[in-house]
Amino acid sequence: MLINDEYNPKYCWAWNRVYVKSNGRIPCWCDTGETHTILSKSLEDNDFILDIVNSKEMREMRLKILQDNEYYIKECKTCCCMIDIDKGRHSRFVNSKVAVEEIEAKRDTALRLLTKEANKNKPLGSISRIQEIQVEPSFPCNLRCPGCLQGRVENPLSTEEKPYILPLEWFKNIIASSINNDVKIGRIAFVGRGEPTLNKELGEMIKYARKMYDDDIIMSMDTNSTQEFKEEYTLLNWINCSIDGSNQESYSKYRIGGEFNKTIDFMQKAMKFISANGNQCNVRWKYILFDTNDTIAEMNKAQEIAKSIGIGELFFVITHAGGATIKPSPTFTSRESVQNYIDNNKIFNNTKVLYAT
Ligand code: SF4
Ligand code: SF4
Repeated sequence: MLINDEYNPKYCWAWNRVYVKSNGRIPCWCDTGETHTILSKSLEDNDFILDIVNSKEMREMRLKILQDNEYYIKECKTCCCMIDIDKGRHSRFVNSKVAVEEIEAKRDTALRLLTKEANKNKPLGSISRIQEIQVEPSFPCNLRCPGCLQGRVENPLSTEEKPYILPLEWFKNIIASSINNDVKIGRIAFVGRGEPTLNKELGEMIKYARKMYDDDIIMSMDTNSTQEFKEEYTLLNWINCSIDGSNQESYSKYRIGGEFNKTIDFMQKAMKFISANGNQCNVRWKYILFDTNDTIAEMNKAQEIAKSIGIGELFFVITHAGGATIKPSPTFTSRESVQNYIDNNKIFNNTKVLYAT
């Protein structure tokens, strides 16, 4: 293949993913694209697959990024989902022939899948498998983390239309539609701009999806773990608990308004229930490293707590984003630096390092 400087292949790995906001708005998948509404339809009286997932708007989005080799919206240029050698976003792809071939191979595979669907008399751009649905059970949050919309904006609720809490019936319609239309969902992630557990029907949603799909679906939740634990949460494959610190003082510098003891209580109750019931749910503690919680003593304390509760994994997360009042850890800026700390401070066996995307 001849490669010239003009040629810039693009591939968005979110092409077969769907993000459902609590009010039924369907924005682009990523942080940068979230303000862009692909379409907005009530989940009460529309068919999720026919009217939303395989709607004209969603099909156009897929075809633009896959078939036309174009950006779908201007936000694609800075989006973490976009694999684009022109932007050098993937260091392993440094404008090489390999990069072009890899990106084209991914795009070809996606296009082949779309063509297969079109051959079944579905409009081109339709999909029969959703890689992942990101469901936002609640738009409000009880905390005000400075790096998050909830902490940055004075009145976060003013940025979205109601309803702010996803109704259970809407969620049931998503599941029922996917089953009726024979469209498989690979994973449901309960996460969004707010705290999922503020939706009092979240437990019912999880129970319903597990009943309908049995083990044939992966489900997870990201929570600040400050609300009451519910047994239904352990029907998830994993629960990510966002707790950045190992005592109230360091924790509350970022998790503004949060009570550290409640987060520990949440994990303790989850583990107690899991061990009593032989449940497979993995409880994971995600500890983002800021300049306020990155001392060896604080990190060792987190490992001790993780060990005593018996959770599945403890992740020390490297970030390059902070907030107006907080900065990323200046000490732990690379995987190697965190791994070195772990190797030299072995307390909890399942302590790992993660890069925030
Ligand atoms: S790369 Fe573009 S199309 Fe893909 S998720 Fe990001 S903004 Fe949306
Ligand atoms: S807990 Fe999560 S949703 Fe709530 S303010 Fe913090 S980052 Fe945002």
